[in-house]
Amino acid sequence: MICPFCSAHETKVIDSRLVAGGQQVRRRRECTACRERFTTFEGAELVMPRVIKRDGSREPFNEDKLRAGLQRALEKRPVSTESIEKCILSIKSTLRATGEREIPSEMLGNLIMDELKVLDKVAYVRFASVYRSFEDIKEFGEAIAKLNEPS
Ligand SMILES: [Zn+2]
Repeated sequence: MICPFCSAHETKVIDSRLVAGGQQVRRRRECTACRERFTTFEGAELVMPRVIKRDGSREPFNEDKLRAGLQRALEKRPVSTESIEKCILSIKSTLRATGEREIPSEMLGNLIMDELKVLDKVAYVRFASVYRSFEDIKEFGEAIAKLNEPS
């Protein structure tokens, strides 16, 4: 792997460990030329189902969009980046496990809400309010009621 600091071609791995419940490998590398250190993450890349939007159009599953949505919901909340990544991996493996080539966007939204409900209740309400855009007060009430359910 090329050094991101000096573009030398030789870097060596100085530490390697499993993270995110064994679904990723984190490697510390050191450049043999400039001695700078950096980190890489390695994980399996598997085909994700496409997402069917409410208007019927299809789009590829977008991990960056998912991450951005979670980060927005979790802004200023006491939740680690590691937990967010775990949550993304969990959503992705659930989607893959369906074996479907296409999944409705509602399903993705519900998976995100299930994860947030466990992770952080404030983020859950934030996400739910944006995602569902609370068309009526009943929906909002239902979201709040779910907070009191044992998880
Ligand atoms: Zn270097």
